Amino acid sequence: MKQPEIDWANIGFGYIATDYNVRCAYRNGEWGEIEVSSSELINIHMAATSLHYGQEAFEGLKAYRCPDGKVRVFRDDENAARLQSTCRGILMPEVPTELFQEMVTRVVRLNERFVPPYESGATLYIRPLLIGTSAQVGVHPASEYLFLMFVTPVGPYFKGGFSTNPYVITRDYDRSAPLGTGIYKVGGNYAASLKANKIAHDMGYSCEFYLDAKEKKYIDECGAANFFGIKNNTYVTPASTSILPSITNKSLMQIAEDLGLKVERRQIPEEELATFEEAGACGTAAVISPIERIDDPTTGKSYVFSKDGKPGPISTRLYNTIRNIQYGIEPDIHGWTRVVIE
Ligand SMILES: *Cc1c(COP(=O)(O)O)cnc(C)c1O
Repeated sequence: MKQPEIDWANIGFGYIATDYNVRCAYRNGEWGEIEVSSSELINIHMAATSLHYGQEAFEGLKAYRCPDGKVRVFRDDENAARLQSTCRGILMPEVPTELFQEMVTRVVRLNERFVPPYESGATLYIRPLLIGTSAQVGVHPASEYLFLMFVTPVGPYFKGGFSTNPYVITRDYDRSAPLGTGIYKVGGNYAASLKANKIAHDMGYSCEFYLDAKEKKYIDECGAANFFGIKNNTYVTPASTSILPSITNKSLMQIAEDLGLKVERRQIPEEELATFEEAGACGTAAVISPIERIDDPTTGKSYVFSKDGKPGPISTRLYNTIRNIQYGIEPDIHGWTRVVIE
């Protein structure tokens, strides 16, 4: 197998072309056969519902080259289940879990030479995408869909090691409405967040931080990641009807419990931020991105979680534990990983 000439440790989070993607079409009420493609393009009708009415959903997960030489994926059954929930939410046909997992296995095996080496800290990001493809000018769900998966190597999230970042509360924009599509992984939520995200970046912050859309009183999400805070040996994460259910957060809640922490999932008023000893943003990309501070420009308050730029001890322990499970280093007691290449 010819190895691609890639400087694995410095590739960042962009797009690098790989050899193949896998596709499956839905027509006449059923899913077809899995097809392998070497084209990076899709041919789509100009009146497709995905282009006009946002009938599109995606997922994101990673394949890890482990120290034992195997390639593992983490909880892809959970990504399949979340995509099914998204499908029910925006009236698309559900992708069965077996089809989803078969496509994950095939797309990773077909692009094995792009799975970065363990030592580099880089991983192979897997992007499943489901789009309505049939033509329709009226606002109705499509009758035909395309489900595809491509992969791209992504660099280590923390180049200078696991470190903290500043966030800023936004009151001028909402990512999603209380009874909207925030709980589904659809592109529309991202479109809604682009402006707030740019403003936060322009102000020198790592990301925007959302309060609940209705009362602007409770913590919602950290950009496109879930929030957690740590205090009194307790892992606290918000309960809300507009947060995307993160698989990383779900896993961290279990690990926190395994490590003897209490876990609370409830509304978190903004002022409670002042009481946390540590805080973090979590998701597949960074696993945990520890929060240095959260500024609220409206009130002038600044909630500081790290004074020296270093992550707190519990965040570090959670981070190391989940990473060691993903890389097959610690026993996978919950059966979260699946070997896709022996
Ligand atoms: C994908 C995503 C997350 C993180 O979910 P993971 O399953 O942990 O990767 C969090 N928030 C939003 C808005 C997302 O789209």
